[in-house]
Amino acid sequence: MTGPDELPLRPELRGRSPYGAPQVPAAYRLNTNENPHPLPAELLADLGAALGHAALELNRYPDRDAVALRTDLAGYLSRTSGEAVTPQQVWAANGSNEVLQQILQAFGGGGRTALGFTPSYSMHPIISAGTGTAWVDGHRRGDFTIDAAAAAAQVREVRPDVVFVTSPNNPTGTAVALETIEQLYSATAGVLVVDEAYTEFARAGTRSALTLLPGRPRLIVSRTMSKAFGMAGLRLGYLAADAAVVDALQLVRLPYHLSSLTQAAARMALAHTDALLATVDEVKAQRDRIVEALPALGLTSVPSDANFVLFGHFADAPAAWRALLDRGVLVRDVGLPGWLRVTAGTATETDAFLTALAAVVAEHG
Ligand code: PMP
Repeated sequence: MTGPDELPLRPELRGRSPYGAPQVPAAYRLNTNENPHPLPAELLADLGAALGHAALELNRYPDRDAVALRTDLAGYLSRTSGEAVTPQQVWAANGSNEVLQQILQAFGGGGRTALGFTPSYSMHPIISAGTGTAWVDGHRRGDFTIDAAAAAAQVREVRPDVVFVTSPNNPTGTAVALETIEQLYSATAGVLVVDEAYTEFARAGTRSALTLLPGRPRLIVSRTMSKAFGMAGLRLGYLAADAAVVDALQLVRLPYHLSSLTQAAARMALAHTDALLATVDEVKAQRDRIVEALPALGLTSVPSDANFVLFGHFADAPAAWRALLDRGVLVRDVGLPGWLRVTAGTATETDAFLTALAAVVAEHG
C-alpha cells in the first residue's frame, strides 16, 4: 500500500498525523467536550419541519451570504454580551474550525507566521500548517496562565501575522483576562483571534472579548454551536469582528460553503436558544463537582471556565487513561505529562467518572 509520504506531498505535511481524539467504544465518552444532554423535544420537532421546508429548495444554491443566519447570530451575541453586534460584523462557517481556516487563508499563508500560547487548542497549529502558515509556540507560566507582559514582549519580538488566544483555554480550562487580550492586541500589528468556543461555561465575572471589539479592527472573536448549544453534529461556527474582516474573508470562502440545511437548522436552534442553553448551568455544576471531589483523591485541577477539567498529577498519565478506559470511562490524554482532561456532562457521567477514578487512584496511587 502506498503511504502519503510516498506521494508528492507538501514537505511540511510529511510525517504528520491527522488530528482527532481516539474514537474508542466506551460506556462513558468524556473525551471531546460535547454536551451530552439530548436536544429539547420541541426543538427536534421544529427542526424536522424547518429541514423539510429547506429541502423544497435543495435544487437551488443556498444564500451565499447567509444573511438571515448572521442576523440571528448577531442578535444572540448582542443579547448576551450587551455589546451591539451587527450582522455585517458576523461570519459563519462549518464549525469554528472552518472559521479559523478562513482567517488563516486570509491573514496567514505562505511567508506568514501565526503564534499561539501552548498548550492550547491543537488545531491552531494544524490549520496553520494546512494553510502554509509558519507556527511559533507562545509561552505560558508553569500554572498554564499567560503572563501578559512576557506574552506581549514575545509577540513584539516574533511579529506574527495572526495571534491566537483561546479563552477559556483548551485543554487547561481557564479564561484569559481582558487586560491580557488588550495588551496582546496593542503588541501586534497582525490579527488577534480570541477563540471563545467554551465561553458560555465561564465562571461568573468572566467577560467576553466581544466587549473589546469597538475601535479594534484587527480583533476577531470566534464562537461555536458545538459546545454549550449542544450541536456539535450541526457544524456551525461563527465569528464577530470589524465588518472589514468579514469582507476580507469573502475573498477566501468557497461560494455556498454553508448548506441551506445547515443554515435552516442553525436558525431553528437559535430560535430555541434559551431551551438549549438551559443545560449550561447543569454542566457547570458537574464541572464544579469534579473539581471539588479531586482533593479527597489526592488529585488537583486547573481552574476551569469550560465544560471540562484538566486533572492530575499522575505519575503515569497514559497508564491512568488506560485504567479509566478499562472501567468504561474514556477521558482525553492531551499529551501533558501528569495530566488528563475530562468532559463535564450529566450527573450520571460524573458519578461514573468519580467512582472509576477513585478505583484507579487506589490501585495505581
Ligand atoms: N476551538 C476550540 C478551543 C475547541 O476546543 C474546538 C473543538 N474542540 C473548536 C474550536 C472547534 O469546534 P467546532 O469546529 O466544532 O466549532
